[in-house]
Amino acid sequence: MCGIVGYLGQQQAQGILLDCLGRLEYRGYDSAGMATIDAGKLGRQRCAGKSAALQSLLDRHPLAGGIGIAHTRWATHGRPTDNNSHPHTDCTGALAIVHNGIIENYSELKELMEDDGHRFVSQTDSEVIAHLIESKLAANVEGGLKAAVMEALSAVQGTYALAVISQQQADKIVVARSGGPPLVIGHAEDGLYISSDITAILHYTRDIQILEDNEIAEIRRDGASITLLDGTPVDRAKIQIAWKQNAADRNG
Ligand code: GLU
Repeated sequence: MCGIVGYLGQQQAQGILLDCLGRLEYRGYDSAGMATIDAGKLGRQRCAGKSAALQSLLDRHPLAGGIGIAHTRWATHGRPTDNNSHPHTDCTGALAIVHNGIIENYSELKELMEDDGHRFVSQTDSEVIAHLIESKLAANVEGGLKAAVMEALSAVQGTYALAVISQQQADKIVVARSGGPPLVIGHAEDGLYISSDITAILHYTRDIQILEDNEIAEIRRDGASITLLDGTPVDRAKIQIAWKQNAADRNG
């Protein structure tokens, strides 16, 4: 199984995200990628292969910015190629998503979106989520990125852990979860972290909120607000993780 990490804070995201992706390696994957926003502009690098291949790509073409999301992919729809690697973007390249899981009704949704003029460039099921959010943002749904993601997800059948960033609202990450793949939110002095797995961010934070099934959260620099996917507020306490890092490492 593959993974998601994200960061929003005072530091540059790239190094932190690469480090955290490395700590998810044990989950198994075939490709890796990252997107950040710097000075209002979204940047993305991704490739088939291991995180060392992504590292070398980023050495040549670094991604700046204090907000970012990253992914390791275990291909279910579309071969493990550079182009099928996450993050996926909308038609304009203004928003990026990373997804773990399977979108069961993606071919119907893709057909509808294509009829509406959206251009798909990958063979993945996941890309449809980026176009759905794009269309909701274009319709100016009240409540910004989180509301657009909620509306988009109401059309989706399947399983997901999902993280989204957008140039239009470059101060937040929206994350959501349904039907299996896990996601946690970590709170630290320098910023907020998201991860498929507590162990991947334990090096940075021990204050964790678990996102439960059918929940969505808006991550901002000053905290995270969680609701159900239908908007019902959720009051989720933070838990303090006491494990030692080496107990959580692969060899532990
Ligand atoms: N179904 C998606 C894909 O094939 C996500 C796979 C995953 O969970 O990594 O790209």
